[in-house]
Amino acid sequence: MIPYGRQEITQDDIDAVVEVMRSDFITQGPMVPKFEQAVADYCGAQYAVAVSSGTAALHTACLAMDLGPGDWLWTSPITFVASANCGLYCGAQVDFVDVDPRTHNISVAALAAKLEHSESRGVLPKVVVPVHFAGQSCDMREIHALADQYGFRVLEDASHGLGGRYLDAQVGSCRYSDAAVFSFHPVKSITTGEGGMIVTNDERLAETARRMRTHGITRDPTSMVNESSGPWYYEQIALGFNYRITDIQAALGISQLQRLDSYVAKRHEIAECYDAALHALPLELPHRLEGVYSSMHLYVVRLNSRQIKQSHKEVFEALRERGVGVNLHYIPVPSQPFYRALGFSLEDYPNAARYYGEALTLPMYPTLTEEHQETVVTELRRILV
Ligand SMILES: *Cc1c(COP(=O)(O)O)cnc(C)c1O
Repeated sequence: MIPYGRQEITQDDIDAVVEVMRSDFITQGPMVPKFEQAVADYCGAQYAVAVSSGTAALHTACLAMDLGPGDWLWTSPITFVASANCGLYCGAQVDFVDVDPRTHNISVAALAAKLEHSESRGVLPKVVVPVHFAGQSCDMREIHALADQYGFRVLEDASHGLGGRYLDAQVGSCRYSDAAVFSFHPVKSITTGEGGMIVTNDERLAETARRMRTHGITRDPTSMVNESSGPWYYEQIALGFNYRITDIQAALGISQLQRLDSYVAKRHEIAECYDAALHALPLELPHRLEGVYSSMHLYVVRLNSRQIKQSHKEVFEALRERGVGVNLHYIPVPSQPFYRALGFSLEDYPNAARYYGEALTLPMYPTLTEEHQETVVTELRRILV
């Protein structure tokens, strides 16, 4: 089966990991701050805080934004469940704003309308989490303008977006947001096995995130409640977690980061081949926004159902049977049983619902061979024509 995504691990990666394993520190050593600095420099952000997963990064960032009971977090229905769960972890309430039907990013028009309506009812969100779907940045300038107008904080779920650009800055520069998070799961731009990172230009937010990833403990005398009673002394001043990443993982991340730009370039080459080979089929191909350079995390097509005899499910199954590991990103979060039990319903998000009935994620990763890509195209043609 040709997978929809996969990592590449080189000998350099393995050497970097082995070197750490032979060193004095396999966690909380020098590699984690080195990885953080490398990602901050790459993105053009001032601070970076590495954690154990993208999900941990979302949770920690929400905690650092002081999200809690009585607060609201809004995000997109077309995302991985973690973008919404992070709000519930903090005891806040979650709501969704429908997607733009072309980009599948949160619709700025729907967001503006919902904010206006919510203001009149006095229930504005504290945090909005735009998700850079498939690696294409949301319109951050517009979202930032709304944040200024309504006073919410912006947390970019950039799990798909590392290596992409928005206008003249890297995704993660946080020029138009309070913070952004990345995931280093093996299908993402670069991997550490499991891992995540928060980037921000807000020193206090970074400091709080650093404390919350390690139990809410501080060793900084200026943050302590009491005076230090000796060199052993530390204080727990909030309820945090163990969300630390290891030096082993950080070494892998540093090594992978050196290939990030070439990976994204390769993904664009693959996307151009798909564009050229698929444009005549009854498919809607990915829409590219001007001023945005996608990291091309996913290549998602939509079936033009009126021109296709088979159902969405039949096309999906036929491709899987022929060894093409298509996927569906994502089952809309409000339709998950857990969210339904909270009162959500997919019918309230018509663009997300329509998308879910038509979308197919095709294989896309830097080491996808020409031959495998040819197979994907041939099988799609055979099924659809
Ligand atoms: C992968 C992903 C996450 C979660 O990242 P993990 O590292 O798997 O915890 C969150 N949001 C989105 C949009 C993702 O794609």
